[in-house]
Amino acid sequence: MGKGVQLSELVSILEHSLVGIPEHRTGDNTVYEIKDAGLAAFSVFFMQSPSFLAYQRAMQRKKDKNNARSLFGVGGIPSDGQIRNILDPVDPSQLREPFWDGYALLKANGYLERYHGIGGTFLISIDGSQYFSSQKIHCPNCRVQERDGQTTYSHQVMVPVLCAPGEEHVVCLDPEFITPQDGHEKQDCEQQAIKRWVERNSQRFEPWSVTILADDLHCHHPLCKLLLKHKLHFIHTCKPESHQALYEELALLEQVEGAISTMTVRQWNGRYYECWTYRWAKRLPLRKTADTLWVNWCELTIVNEATGKQLFHSGWATDHEIDARCVAEIAVDGRSRWKVENEGFNVLKNRGYNFEHNFGHGQEHLSALLLTLLLLAFLFHTALDLACLVYQKVRQELGPRRTFFNDLRALTRYICFNDWQQLLWFMYQQLDLAPG
Ligand SMILES: [Zn+2]
Repeated sequence: MGKGVQLSELVSILEHSLVGIPEHRTGDNTVYEIKDAGLAAFSVFFMQSPSFLAYQRAMQRKKDKNNARSLFGVGGIPSDGQIRNILDPVDPSQLREPFWDGYALLKANGYLERYHGIGGTFLISIDGSQYFSSQKIHCPNCRVQERDGQTTYSHQVMVPVLCAPGEEHVVCLDPEFITPQDGHEKQDCEQQAIKRWVERNSQRFEPWSVTILADDLHCHHPLCKLLLKHKLHFIHTCKPESHQALYEELALLEQVEGAISTMTVRQWNGRYYECWTYRWAKRLPLRKTADTLWVNWCELTIVNEATGKQLFHSGWATDHEIDARCVAEIAVDGRSRWKVENEGFNVLKNRGYNFEHNFGHGQEHLSALLLTLLLLAFLFHTALDLACLVYQKVRQELGPRRTFFNDLRALTRYICFNDWQQLLWFMYQQLDLAPG
């Protein structure tokens, strides 16, 4: 393993990008730097505490020092209104590099070795999510839907994450925002967003070193073609309803003995035996046209051996070669696509990241910029969990995520720490975690 990663390194990565954002304000109204507003908003997400800045302003008044400065490098703490005004005009694309710098730091130090799947490739799962919805608050970048006389405003984003079977954490990569275009359905927008992400980022990876995992919506000729053109592999969910040509061909092959390979494995799940049946076939048409892309296909069906009840079923299309030696690995990699939902969106939405907080929605980019800072906070916590031993020990000892963040909130309200390491070390020692 590498040398470990500290929060100060990660924060300076973010600070570097914030400092590079061109000044958009004119006149004398520049008491606070863009960097201060960005780091202050980031600190709220990182601490999962809407009150963090209020406590630090109070601490500054009483003690002439505060944790927003010592932990996150915030020069002066702007008010929430000032943060909103300073950040609203900042395009979130200005904060793409911190994701890649964080990724590079983890990779260079050997912390991403466990994120490999089939053929030693990195597994990247990409999915879309709605991160804001309101019937009142809106901005010009909102997606607008009319239904039963009711108007709903919303924002969506595509979030790619590095994931791996059996790996608890996902490593968030830079998001692609879905901006509404007139006359386009949601699906078109998601499909355009994933293409933009691929075109923008494929050159960051060694050729053929990545397998993209996406759902049925993205399992179509143009995207798969694009992925291959950019030397990226894919394993996409492939449902019969949306892949008529492929499943018709499969039905024909079922008439030919040996054309579809099958393998069944018994697995003990701790309570009863499951039968895992794999079926696979090579070179099937992805669509019904002369120029179709030919893909390999496999499916996995899991049933309770005793009752015959089906527990799981899914099929995938891939460009990876499939045979009896690797079909199980392809299926398990295909299934790990769900990690973007389970370990990604679920954590962001339900576990304390307090998106939107009280900074508001803004009139330009605020909503998307705040989400970007939130995703960076998510990435940096993951990075520490992967690459900082003291952080790992403290998190493990405190059990539920909530306890860890409650303690962070309380400690930083009353005590000013010199830096993050001192704060972590304080928790580590008070919890008697130091060996011997
Ligand atoms: Zn909006």
